[in-house]
Amino acid sequence: NGFVTLGLAPELVQAVADLGYTQPTAVQMQTIPMAMQSESARFVDLMVSSQTGSGKTAAFLLPVLHTLLKQQAEAEAAEKAEYEAAVAEAAAKGEPAPKRAKRKDPTNARNFKAATPGALILCPTRELAQQVAHDAIGLVAHCRGLRIANVVGGMPYQLQIAKLQNANLVVATPGRLLDLQRSQQIKLDQVQFLVVDEADRMLDLGFSDDLADVNQMTIGRKQTMMFSATFAPRIQQLAQRVMREPQRVTI
Ligand code: AMP
Repeated sequence: NGFVTLGLAPELVQAVADLGYTQPTAVQMQTIPMAMQSESARFVDLMVSSQTGSGKTAAFLLPVLHTLLKQQAEAEAAEKAEYEAAVAEAAAKGEPAPKRAKRKDPTNARNFKAATPGALILCPTRELAQQVAHDAIGLVAHCRGLRIANVVGGMPYQLQIAKLQNANLVVATPGRLLDLQRSQQIKLDQVQFLVVDEADRMLDLGFSDDLADVNQMTIGRKQTMMFSATFAPRIQQLAQRVMREPQRVTI
């Protein structure tokens, strides 16, 4: 499988194989390795020209999922090492082994905490957001513990909020996302990766102020990627506002 050479985690290579993708498309080939490079915990910002049908969705989902997966594995290893050290310490003192901390049941209302996703994908329309979330769910089929949530208008709030609780990656339209942010169901300050999909349509649909708000709310993020069919001047202005020295990928 041609995805092996891109340096993606085996869980993700398996998922693309299951989906029947044998070779990365041009935009995937160029974007994925660039997007995964990090230097002192920052990743390069990318401005990618891409059409629907080019494979652009997997081009931004795969590197983001790869890094989330890696971080999760590191966190689990650290937790395990800490637990094993505690067990060894207890054994040395002749005490019984400590119990492992239990995860709180997130469906219990008493344990409610605002969602704090590590990655946020913004889409201009509900249909696109649903498609992207669907693709993301396919790509995490082998990733234990990576959860995807979809946040779009016109859906019941309660269901979205329940699914949002443990989400690592949120795919959203700006209106509903900011609604949930204002009602403190979601906090955006843990977002490390921000993707603006179809940035040109985002501006056409009047989401410029919402993008500015999300930019501020996620100001500590490590990477921003913008995908757009065109590089019109207004897209470049947006890119300047939300990215740091973006690299351009033109297909
Ligand atoms: P997109 O441009 O992201 O809307 O993707 C267009 C379609 O191509 C979607 O149905 C994807 O499932 C599919 N696709 C994405 N990447 C590949 C690939 N490397 N090989 C075959 N199909 C792909």
